[in-house]
Amino acid sequence: MILEQNISLKPYHFFSSDEKSNFFTTIHQLDQVENIVNWCKANTLPLLILGAGSNLLFTKNYIGLVAKMEIMGIKKINESSSTVSLEVGAGENWHHFVSYCIQKGWGGLENLSLIPGSVGASPIQNIGAYGAEVQSCIEQVKVYDTLTNQWTNLFNDDCKFKYRTSIFKQQPDRFIITHVQFKLHKQPLLKTDHGAIREVLHVKGIKNPSLENIAAAVTQIRIDKLPDPKIMANAGSFFKNPIVPKEKYLLLEQKFPNIIAHPISDTSYKISAAWLIEACGWKGLRKGNVGCYEKHALVIVSYGIKTGMEVYDFSEAIISDIQTKFNLILEREVAIY
Ligand SMILES: Cc1cc2nc3c(=O)[nH]c(=O)nc-3n(C[C@H](O)[C@H](O)[C@H](O)COP(=O)(O)OP(=O)(O)OC[C@H]3O[C@@H](n4cnc5c(N)ncnc54)[C@H](O)[C@@H]3O)c2cc1C
Repeated sequence: MILEQNISLKPYHFFSSDEKSNFFTTIHQLDQVENIVNWCKANTLPLLILGAGSNLLFTKNYIGLVAKMEIMGIKKINESSSTVSLEVGAGENWHHFVSYCIQKGWGGLENLSLIPGSVGASPIQNIGAYGAEVQSCIEQVKVYDTLTNQWTNLFNDDCKFKYRTSIFKQQPDRFIITHVQFKLHKQPLLKTDHGAIREVLHVKGIKNPSLENIAAAVTQIRIDKLPDPKIMANAGSFFKNPIVPKEKYLLLEQKFPNIIAHPISDTSYKISAAWLIEACGWKGLRKGNVGCYEKHALVIVSYGIKTGMEVYDFSEAIISDIQTKFNLILEREVAIY
């Protein structure tokens, strides 16, 4: 194992603040995983597995080992007349993998085009966008369990997928994901229900969309709506949409008739965090080197931060305002270190 010491994490995460890690390594193959875990245990240091760094924020130097996941490869495991199963290395780029599937005519992931990050991180928060979630295509996830020191395959049900969460988020630091197995469809049922997708297809006059049409529509919507992380550093949606019991939603609706929410079961509602943030006047607001993106209130952007703490403090101020005005606690989607 090649260990680098006292490394700046700046090139390895989207907010690009200059925190350091006292140890750093990269994982290219399976047998490195156990060595790394054993080394951390022997030195009583924590381990942080890094994907593309698009969904995390460092607020201080990391005292431990940061290991960047770079296990690559796309392997066909199974094929029938209607489906194909692929085992994909955790280090593969998510969007490249989605594009590869679309090129082959295999459907299921097209609504998730252009989401930044690695394949290995995709199950962690059950990435989702435009009416789709990755859980619907995941068959199993190959992990090293640092609690039991064993390799295991977690099947879809074992992963406990829900809105922006899974067993991997609920038990952070326990599992190292090395491969994800996806099942894709040769005659997919395309998901065109999302209003923004329908609108783009309508404007383009597309009545019977192909996989490519959906991917192109999603790409266009995302480019129009989200800041390009290469130009304006950000980690996508910073907060989750809060889920509340129906009674609480009805009380909020009485007080704030314009509130945006939708039922997710007979007893609960998902409230638009973007609406809450906008209602507190944060959309487009800048304080120092940090701001709330003008086109999308859920996205916190950097105007040249030096430390991740600047972003953290900004997010704290938003959370505090929302709590005061709505008596709701916003949860961060971004992992904080
Ligand atoms: C502009 C922008 C738009 C975005 N849009 C969306 C969106 O539409 N929908 C959505 O769901 N997300 C979105 N995101 C968030 C992000 O793209 C996803 O969460 C993505 O899956 C993160 O991948 P990553 O490789 O960058 O993970 P990282 O940021 O590197 O890591 C995130 C967390 O996962 C852990 N982790 C990463 N890889 C592994 C592994 N192999 N094993 C164990 N733990 C691991 C890390 O330790 C960390 O806790 C967006 C982000 C940006 C910047």
